[in-house]
Amino acid sequence: MTITATPSPTATGAGLRSAGLEHRISRDPARFRVLTGDRPTGPLHLGHYFGTLRNRVRLQDLGVEVFVLIADYQVLTDRDTAERLQEHTDGLLLDHLALGVDPARSTVFTHSAVPALNQLLLPFLSLVSVAELGRNPTVKDEIAHSRQSAVSGLMYTYPVHQAADILFCKGNVVPVGQDQLPHLELTRTIARRFNERYGDVFPEPEALLSAAPLLLGTDGTKMSKSRANSIPLGATADETARLIRGATTDADRHITYDPETRPGVSSLVLLAALCLERDPHEVAAEIGGGGAAALKRTVTDAVNSHLAPVRARRAEYAADLTYVRSVLRAGNERAAAVADRTLEEVREAMGTFR
Ligand code: ATP
Ligand code: MG
Repeated sequence: MTITATPSPTATGAGLRSAGLEHRISRDPARFRVLTGDRPTGPLHLGHYFGTLRNRVRLQDLGVEVFVLIADYQVLTDRDTAERLQEHTDGLLLDHLALGVDPARSTVFTHSAVPALNQLLLPFLSLVSVAELGRNPTVKDEIAHSRQSAVSGLMYTYPVHQAADILFCKGNVVPVGQDQLPHLELTRTIARRFNERYGDVFPEPEALLSAAPLLLGTDGTKMSKSRANSIPLGATADETARLIRGATTDADRHITYDPETRPGVSSLVLLAALCLERDPHEVAAEIGGGGAAALKRTVTDAVNSHLAPVRARRAEYAADLTYVRSVLRAGNERAAAVADRTLEEVREAMGTFR
């Protein structure tokens, strides 16, 4: 059964392309390499889980090589300093391990430990115009939510940094949420322009969207780590209940699934449907006149039961942080070796000094 949220027109096109991509991956997983990641700005949440995390593990299990980036430098795009970096980095590692990311097959690493990756930013910046950077709708949205009074150069250029993240390991599949589509388009442009100018080095990566490419948070806007509107994967059952009780709904007592006109109610319905693997219209119809209180009870039970095994595994890993951090150290070494090789190729292609 397929559960579909109502995506924007751009996401609809990308969704169709995703279906074709899925088919090609399942035919020959060894031809694909995934790069994807998150900023260590807070705990991973259900938006990540349904938007991209599940796809990461599924692709790994299909035999695709997976790179997961903990984008520590990018924390500084919208704030002055990176707070609680160690805690958030540990949290990201715990979430990935609990969900089934296997360090023997997948590489988890941080920006700051892979200098050669960051060096790709220089040639890549020369391939894009300032106007292109300025029109990126996701960057505009993030500026609107930024905690800084002035917009930093890093905010405008981080989509180019993201191109370096993807292309350093020649990633050709990027499982992401809808907000990342403009960035991925820019990565494709950079790969194409580099290849035209200097000869074929990079693939043009494709986005892989899930059925929930834009999950809304408890305030009815995109669920985000930094917006105090998320339901963290690592939250307790009680915390989850409290967060869902505080979610925005509306005055209409009869529960329906209508994302266009009732975003708050519909995102709760969708959350329950995703956890229960059911159709959101059916879930809404069942609650019907029960109102927001019944809806929230259904969502809380569905989320807590769905996440119980993940949370149990997460707690086991949390008891062994020495092991968890060793996974990152090994991943950093692997990623650094890959980045060194790519940087070498780039220098060769560009005819720069070595
Ligand atoms: P921040 O608020 O710090 O930017 P975030 O919650 O937006 O955090 P990111 O680290 O920016 O998370 O995003 C990591 C990945 O998760 C990206 O691929 C992004 O598209 C996806 N993602 C984030 N939020 C959602 C969401 N609400 N629905 C679907 N996918 C999401
Ligand atoms: Mg974000």
